[in-house]
Amino acid sequence: MRPDYEEVPMFYVKTNLGEGAVIKTEITDENVFTRCPQCGSEFSVDLADVFTDGEGDLYGTSIYCESCSRHLRPDICEGDA
Ligand SMILES: [Zn+2]
Repeated sequence: MRPDYEEVPMFYVKTNLGEGAVIKTEITDENVFTRCPQCGSEFSVDLADVFTDGEGDLYGTSIYCESCSRHLRPDICEGDA
């Protein structure tokens, strides 16, 4: 069955601006950002990755940027097999 409204993304951010105005933004692998707790740099994260290799705790999880995580966790460094 097809809904009579536009195709709705699986997950989206809903921001209530008040007075009946609501913004809905689809969550993609490109528009979710976080800040590295180590160096403070902003970068985009793919939430799918957070849930697949993390504990899936979106609010208790700090995600380090690529260079910091490489420094902190050399064991998960990509590359040489
Ligand atoms: Zn960093």
